Amino acid sequence: ISMEKTTHIAVIPGLGFSHLVPILNFSKHLVQLHPHFHVTCIVPSLGSLPTASKAILQTLPPSINPILLPPINLNDQPQGTPLLLQIHLAMTRSMQSVHHTLKSITSKTPLVAMIIDGFALEALDFARELNILCYIYFPCSLTTLSTYFYMPKLDEETSCEYKDLPHPIQVPGCLPFHGRDLFSLAHDRTGLFYKLFLQRVKRFPLVDGIFVNSFLEMETGPIRALEEEGRGYPPVHPVGPIVQTGAASTTGLECLTWLDKQQDCSVLYVSFGSGGTLSQEQMNELAYGLELSNHKFLWVVRAPNDAVDAAYLGEQKHVEPLEFLPSGFLERTKERGMVVPSWASQIEILGHGSVGGFLSHCGWNSTIESVVHGVPLITWPLFAEQRMNVVVVREGLKVGVRPRENEKGLVERVEVVEMIRCVMEEKEGGEMRKRMKALKEAAANTLKEHGSSTKTLSQLAFKWKSLACENNVC
Ligand code: UDP
Repeated sequence: ISMEKTTHIAVIPGLGFSHLVPILNFSKHLVQLHPHFHVTCIVPSLGSLPTASKAILQTLPPSINPILLPPINLNDQPQGTPLLLQIHLAMTRSMQSVHHTLKSITSKTPLVAMIIDGFALEALDFARELNILCYIYFPCSLTTLSTYFYMPKLDEETSCEYKDLPHPIQVPGCLPFHGRDLFSLAHDRTGLFYKLFLQRVKRFPLVDGIFVNSFLEMETGPIRALEEEGRGYPPVHPVGPIVQTGAASTTGLECLTWLDKQQDCSVLYVSFGSGGTLSQEQMNELAYGLELSNHKFLWVVRAPNDAVDAAYLGEQKHVEPLEFLPSGFLERTKERGMVVPSWASQIEILGHGSVGGFLSHCGWNSTIESVVHGVPLITWPLFAEQRMNVVVVREGLKVGVRPRENEKGLVERVEVVEMIRCVMEEKEGGEMRKRMKALKEAAANTLKEHGSSTKTLSQLAFKWKSLACENNVC
């Protein structure tokens, strides 16, 4: 491919593994399908990047060029600043260097488009200034996106906190859900963060389009509703399911070797995403539940914390997660269970034939990865928009079960055992497994040459290429 034919775009991820890696996976998918593209990835960071994110940046193909921005320092903020506010501040403070980087790139190479995380929306102004198209890459569900669109209206119509609404929230095309299941951005309507969120959402319609990691069979209702309604929103492009391909890490291979020795679909995989944590009490109940279930399990264990999102932006340092397990647990379960401290290569685990169920916090990436590999879920939401994802998985697609909490909000060991039986045992989980298998097939089909997600992306790629040509850069 000669240099003349290259079409250049830039991407700006958000903070955190699950906002950086999905946009990189999207970029990889784009350059793989359309090799004439070149992507510059402008990466904001808060302190040093987590090991797992670094590993991914180091394995990018040559046509994706990462530029790491100087890390942002939030030392002027009080201890315990909420996660969402940390993200907001760090992204805002990164904007000057984003601007500078964009100007320096465009002084040498014309860009046709930039694709940004929702938290990087301030960069939309730079796109306008530089006369380039601007898209959002939304690493959550279409249900969540439709709810974002609906928020200004809901805000106007509601006078109480959403969790106190007497009736479910009905977003067009989506399954109704309870106000307390709404994303955590909207939990405190009097808070600063909610106001910032509303301002941001009101700017969403100004972009040229929004890419979503979802597909028709997974979220038919909201996709159809958006197509029909045309409520003045920008075009929404479902291009998923896009997941990480290939392994980036060489650590944690023992658990794959262990999986090799297990029977097909016999292992429950347990993980709460890139940073979810349980309280010590909840961790004990889960451990005893796994022990009592008599099923095989592979558990990525993180040190307990009462704040569920405590480890999202940084690794837990100087702690040994396994020390928090009930005494004697490792010894008693050594024939049936494998525990991995802090981090494992999830995509490879879910793709392993021995895994038959996934106890997940239902972050959207984990959910999509489970669907791609056809693994039914035990849904255990913790924060962000995870409760809304559970509605999609459990009530919509019926490919997951949800444990009940007791009056203290705790999932007890007997309930854990019950849920494990539901997904792992043929009699109980058979129907769910069939539905998940059908969804897995639909996911594979949408990514084939003539599949809808492939076509959607190709249309955009074609548009960008034509624009680059019009601008005489090819
Ligand atoms: N992940 C992983 N190993 C782990 C934990 C998480 O590879 O031990 C990956 C997982 O495959 C997914 C992402 O981290 O791609 C987590 O994203 P998700 O949206 O599910 O949850 P979040 O991290 O935002 O809570």
